[in-house]
Amino acid sequence: MQLSELSQNITNDILRLIQQNVGKPERYRSFDLEYKDPIYFDLKVNIKITDTLHPTRDLYFKTIPSEVLKFEKFGFAIDGDSFGGDNEDGAEIEISVAVDQTQINSPKLQARILDVARHEVEHIVQRGPNFSQDHKVKIPRPLTREIAKSDYRYFILSDEIPAQVRGLAEEARHSGQTVKECAIEYLTPFLELGFITRPQLEKVLSVWEAWSTQHNIKFT
Ligand SMILES: [Zn+2]
Repeated sequence: MQLSELSQNITNDILRLIQQNVGKPERYRSFDLEYKDPIYFDLKVNIKITDTLHPTRDLYFKTIPSEVLKFEKFGFAIDGDSFGGDNEDGAEIEISVAVDQTQINSPKLQARILDVARHEVEHIVQRGPNFSQDHKVKIPRPLTREIAKSDYRYFILSDEIPAQVRGLAEEARHSGQTVKECAIEYLTPFLELGFITRPQLEKVLSVWEAWSTQHNIKFT
């Protein structure tokens, strides 16, 4: 099974959980899933179906202003994280979704979950128990990552480039847009929030495009 097929399976599982939670009172619900093929990891899914996302109080999204902004624009916010480095024996992906009830069937929601799922799958084959030579990257030091988190350099960390591009490529395949269009859509909220400048956005795009070209992924 290819990693894109696996990402689609994860997406379908998350969409099913979203459907099952329609009409339930507004709070996060947490689910634990397990995957074994072709790589093994635990998936933790947090879901809240809501028509508002409180920027300062929301449990998952208060530290991610770009997702709060996207919630206001598109009616959903999604965040992913992955765990399981070289010193740990398990790998885990955590995906949190807050979605307005009117958006639960939107193709855009599906495309974005697919992006996040493929992004996190890429991280768990870069290191840890599912390490794959084909996905090898230089893992940034924790301090480098911490510093980069405060600006545009986060998007071009050596392990983020493949995760970002492969995730966006899945989204593009699903939505019929180009990878570049998906990338611009993804980065624009950061620009609007003043987290990155226009020249920095262009820089990120050019780094992602160069990596895409090297890996036979059509960017434009
Ligand atoms: Zn990442």
